[in-house]
Amino acid sequence: MDISFHGAAGGVTGSCHLLRIGGRQLLLDCGMFQGRQEEEAHNHDPFPFDAATLDAVVLSHAHIDHSGRLPILVRRGYRGPIHATPATIDLARVLLRDAAHLQEADAERDNRRRQRQGKALVKPLFTRDDAEATLRLFTPLEFDTPTDLLPGVRATLIPAGHILGAASVVLDLEEAGRRRRLAFSGDIGQDDSCMLPPPRPPDRADLVLLESTYGDRNHRARADTHREIAEVLESAWQAGGNLLIPAFAIGRTQELLTLFALHREEWNLDRWLLFVDSPMAIQATAAHVRHSELFNDEAGALFAGRDLRQLLPNLRETASTEESMRLNTIRRGALIIAGSGMCTGGRILHHFRYNLWRRECRVMIVGYQGEGTLGRKLVDGASEVRIHGEDIRVAAGIHTVGGLSAHAGQDELAAWYGAIEGRPPLVLVHGEARGRDGLAARVQADFGVHARLPVYGERMAL
Ligand SMILES: [Zn+2]
Repeated sequence: MDISFHGAAGGVTGSCHLLRIGGRQLLLDCGMFQGRQEEEAHNHDPFPFDAATLDAVVLSHAHIDHSGRLPILVRRGYRGPIHATPATIDLARVLLRDAAHLQEADAERDNRRRQRQGKALVKPLFTRDDAEATLRLFTPLEFDTPTDLLPGVRATLIPAGHILGAASVVLDLEEAGRRRRLAFSGDIGQDDSCMLPPPRPPDRADLVLLESTYGDRNHRARADTHREIAEVLESAWQAGGNLLIPAFAIGRTQELLTLFALHREEWNLDRWLLFVDSPMAIQATAAHVRHSELFNDEAGALFAGRDLRQLLPNLRETASTEESMRLNTIRRGALIIAGSGMCTGGRILHHFRYNLWRRECRVMIVGYQGEGTLGRKLVDGASEVRIHGEDIRVAAGIHTVGGLSAHAGQDELAAWYGAIEGRPPLVLVHGEARGRDGLAARVQADFGVHARLPVYGERMAL
C-alpha cells in the first residue's frame, strides 16, 4: 500500500494523488495546473501512471484545479468510474463543459496565429467530446455512505464545507490482513459560511492528507465582512450610479446571493435592480437551489420550498448576450454580479467599459485577485486600465471586501486536524511554501506533530 503525489504538492493547483493497494490503483482528484505559464505547461505532461489501467477515481469537489485533468485522463484511455457527490457531479458538468469550450477556443485562436506564421498547428488539451465522455463516467456517491469501491477499498465522503458538494474522503483500506485508514481533506471551507455547514473532520485515521492553502493566516471575522458589505451597498446607493461585483460563477456568486437573501431588508436591497449576468453562474445557481438540502440550517430554512425569485424579487438572471447588452443603458441603481472573478475576461469587462469612468459608480471586489490581473490593478489603485484594446479611466470608487474565502484559515485547519483521535501522522498538500510551512509550524506548536511536506512525484508507504 502506498500513495504518491502528482499535483498540489508544493503548490495549490493540479490536485492529484495516486493510491496503490493490492495491485489496484485509485486516483484522488485529477486537477488542472493553473496560474503561471510554466505551471500550466504541466497539464501537457504524460501521467506518471497508465490512465487505461487505473481502477477508480474519487473526486473531492468540482473546482477545476481538482477536476480539470479528468477529460485528459479519459482521452488517454481511462474508462472506469469517477465517484463524487451528486452536487459535485452537477457542478462538474457546468465547469468541465466550460473548460472544454475554453480549451477549444484557445487552440483555435492559437492556430490562426500559427497558420500565419507557418508553424505546426496545436490540438486543444481536451475537447467538448472529451468532457462529455468524462461526464458519462461520473458515479454518484452520497455523503456518509460507506461504499466498497474496489476489493480492500471502502470510501466514505464527509462534508468539507468549501463549495457545494465538496467532500473529504475517508478510505478504509485492507491489504493482506493489514488495515489502514487514510483521510484526504480535499479543500476545507470556513466554519461560519453563510451557506454551507462547517467542515467535519473524520473521527479517526492512520494517515491524514490536509490542505494548507491558508495555513499561514486567518481570515478577518465574518461579522466585519458583513458590516463592510453593508457600508459599500449604502455608499454606492448614495453615489447614485451602478455597483459592479466581479465574482466567480461557482460558489462566490451563490454565496453573495444567499447573503443578499439573508440580509435583504437590513441592507435595503429591494431598491436595487439585481442582475446575475453570467450563463455559467445561472446554471450553477440552479444546481445550488436543487441541492439546498446541503445548506446549513439558516440558509436551508430560507431556501426550503422557495426559489430565488421569491427570496430576491428584484433579481434578474441575464443569460443571453442581448439581455446582457441591455444592462449597458442603465445609468443608476443596477447591482451587477458578473464574471470573471479576477476580471481577466467575461462580461464584467463590458460593464467596466460602460461604468468604470463614471465617478458615481462603484466596484466591490469580494475575492482574491491574482498578481497581474485587471482586478489586482483596480485594487492597487490604477487610474487607467486597458479593456479590449481601449484605455479606460478609473473614476468609479473601488472597494475591497476581505474575508469571503472558500478556504479555512489557519485556526480552522489546525482545529480540524486537532479533532481527529490520536493526532495521526500528517501530510500537508495543496499549499504554497508559505501556507504549508505556516501550518506545519502551527501543528508542531499545538500538537507536537511533525508534518511531512511531500514534493511532486514523491511516494509514501502506508
Ligand atoms: Zn477548491
